[in-house]
Amino acid sequence: MNFRLDNKIALITGGGSGIGFAIAQCMIEAGATVVITGRREHALQEAVQQLGDKAKYVVNDVTVLEQLENLVEHIETQIGAIDILVNNAGINMKKPALEVTDEEFQRIIHTNLNAVFSLTRVVAQRMVARKSGNIIMISSMAAYYGIDRVPAYSASKHGVEGLVKALSMDLSPSQVRVNAVAPGFIETAMMQTAMNSDPARMNKALDRTPMGFFGKPEDIGMAVVFLASDAAKYITGASLPVDGGNSIGF
Ligand code: NDP
Repeated sequence: MNFRLDNKIALITGGGSGIGFAIAQCMIEAGATVVITGRREHALQEAVQQLGDKAKYVVNDVTVLEQLENLVEHIETQIGAIDILVNNAGINMKKPALEVTDEEFQRIIHTNLNAVFSLTRVVAQRMVARKSGNIIMISSMAAYYGIDRVPAYSASKHGVEGLVKALSMDLSPSQVRVNAVAPGFIETAMMQTAMNSDPARMNKALDRTPMGFFGKPEDIGMAVVFLASDAAKYITGASLPVDGGNSIGF
């Protein structure tokens, strides 16, 4: 059994905070070198200070698609070949569906889906040439069942799950695996904004979680390490819920 990521290089989008930061922590603990990206340089600097020598950062906005080739070229020449890509960066907005503007809908789809495809294509072309690699998408319960007031987010995460299946078919012959981790309610800034610190909403979310408590970012980090490791070497095209039972039913 090999759950280690020694000598592996991982690119984690949105790794300066929340779930992405915890993924970086867990991957480093498993032996990997990580490159984290995001738009806020101060958040990335602070994160790298906490993560230590095995973490590097590059300021990058994933929605600027024409810069993604440069991002990957920069990492591969300065640090080394990317063995693991974690598409974690994402945004959300809670608003009644009929009040969502086209601009708002497109902004969320662009960040959570278009950018995921574009970055994955750039990285996967290189992985396919090397006949090895591992791609993990951070999906959501919003891809498993209906949630009110998140039409764009929900559509984007359904799209991500579709990408996992389609890409795993295309890339499996080259020994590149593609999987998703689907978090339930995880305590981060995104969850706080979605709940608006409203105790009624928090209680409703807890009622829908059979284990009766919210997840921590490291719960997602540990699942990502597993899927990225050789312990999962025969797993591709899968979506792993990490949700305290939230997706079982309620
Ligand atoms: P946070 O809002 O805490 O963190 C999001 C991260 O994404 C930030 O580091 C942010 O950095 C980065 N990011 C956002 N937009 C961009 C962009 N355009 N380019 C580069 N980086 C970007 O959210 P979470 O940690 O909670 O969420 C991480 C992932 O987990 C998301 O995909 C989310 O959909 C998913 N998820 C979260 C759940 C939860 O309960 N928390 C539940 C289900 C899924 P910066 O602002 O510096 O760019």
